[in-house]
This record gives sequence, C-alpha cells and structure tokens, in this order.
Amino acid sequence: MARLLVEDGLFAGTDPPVLAGSRCSSCATVAFPATSRCPGCAETMVSRIPLPTRGTVWTWTDQRFAPKPPYQSPAEGFAPFVVGYVDLGPVLVESRLTGPVAIGDEVDLRLLDLDHGITGFGFQRVEL
Ligand SMILES: [Zn+2]
Repeated sequence: MARLLVEDGLFAGTDPPVLAGSRCSSCATVAFPATSRCPGCAETMVSRIPLPTRGTVWTWTDQRFAPKPPYQSPAEGFAPFVVGYVDLGPVLVESRLTGPVAIGDEVDLRLLDLDHGITGFGFQRVEL
C-alpha cells in the first residue's frame, strides 16, 4: 500500500527511508529540505542527494504545546513530543525524535506514523 507522505520531496526513498537534500555545485553547501537555490551562495546549479540516515543529536527540546497550522493535533488531543536537530555530517536536520535522547546520542532515521494517516520521519536512538 502506498504511504501518504507528509511531503514527497523530503524523501529520496522510503524503503528503507532516506531523506533528500541538495548540494550546491559551486560551494558544496548541503541543504535540507532540498532547495533549487543554494542557501550559501545563491547558486542555482544544485543537485538532489540522498542524506546519511544516521547522525547524532545536536540538540533537542520538548514540544509542550500544539504548533501552529499546518500542524494538526490528533483526534484524541495534543500530546507533547520531542523535536531536535540531528547532525548528519553535511547538514543539520530538524526532526521529531522518538524515545528518550540526549545530546550526542547516535540516532537513525525511521518512518513515523503521524496522525490522520500521514507518514513523516523521525530519528530514534541507536541502541549500542
Ligand atoms: Zn553554494
């Protein structure tokens, strides 16, 4: 069954999940989500690249109130969740984090069943 992705362009693939970024042909800046213009130098020669699927927690926080739309609270009501930045090497990715994490933890990419039948992504701590 095809998944309803939160945004098709975020993914280079879903089985296994891989996020898509962009790399500038001029200055090699990597961006996520992928862009058509380099955020570093405004070059338009950028290419889509698959991003590493494993990284480390750069920082995190608890989201304790419902974000503004387009976020939709689940039918049973908003529940706090953890968000953070994951350092994938060439780029920091803002993401949900599932389960307990600490700064510096190694995490890997997972598909995440969001509410309303939508699939997003998150990172989960790698059990070493
Ligand atoms: Zn650039």
